[in-house]
Amino acid sequence: VRDKVPKMSFIDLGLNEVVLSALQPLCYENLTPIQEQAIPHVLEGKDILGSAQTGTGKTAAFSLPIVHTLASRPSKTQGRSKPIRALVLTPTRELASQIDENVRKYCKNSNLRSTVVFGGIPQRRQVDTLRRGVDILIATPGRLLDHVNQRTIDLSQVKTLVLDEADRMLDMGFLGDIEKIISKCQPKHQTLLFSATYNKGIKNLSGQYLNNPIEIAVAKDNTVAASVEQTFVRVDKERKRDLLMQLIRMNEMHQVLVFTKTK
Ligand code: AMP
Repeated sequence: VRDKVPKMSFIDLGLNEVVLSALQPLCYENLTPIQEQAIPHVLEGKDILGSAQTGTGKTAAFSLPIVHTLASRPSKTQGRSKPIRALVLTPTRELASQIDENVRKYCKNSNLRSTVVFGGIPQRRQVDTLRRGVDILIATPGRLLDHVNQRTIDLSQVKTLVLDEADRMLDMGFLGDIEKIISKCQPKHQTLLFSATYNKGIKNLSGQYLNNPIEIAVAKDNTVAASVEQTFVRVDKERKRDLLMQLIRMNEMHQVLVFTKTK
């Protein structure tokens, strides 16, 4: 039934011209499931607890409504004193760069400025960019906190906070940094938390910092590569092992991974 329902497009969301015109050259035709489910709620200012992996279109799911909202409400101050109003925290510099690349494309036709900070490159260059005024900041937690401590970044006007790949950030030991960063944002801010897995750490984090979040879960399409052929064999429990041996011998398999249910 679902396939017969016309798919939603970006125009249906009521996104402003600044965003729609930036999307045109990207040729995104329809919304991905995470975008369809998240964007209307993000536009309404709701908190989100999203279970989505990279490749589902989640970057656009949080970035497009942020760009829409910030572009509709220009900062009272421009230039140097332009405050950071949206912050995206992500675990690695690679992810930070990818998000930055996308956000730049989505902001192309607006007056909004975005930048990225992560460890491993000289802070001075980042400070110069920050001084010029930034609306959207993408950062890894450690380097961001260095800037906050040195007062080269002020988060007090951050109204939207994205915790991207939150499970990985917790695995990397960033919980303390994340909590410090949250405490520096505007007390009443919107939080969009995305995580591929839902474990105790994520449950605690969302319980503590999210306000009545809308829960969204999407599976990634095509998680099996197109080059992988799958077959299914129905067999009695007692003959499973013999059959496996036979398949290995018959197909002259030399390198095999066998996944089983128990030890
Ligand atoms: P992400 O999951 O955010 O890493 O996105 C994966 C890729 O999908 C990126 O290259 C995006 O540019 C692309 N993408 C995002 N949304 C759409 C869409 N609605 N239609 C087609 N491609 C998209």
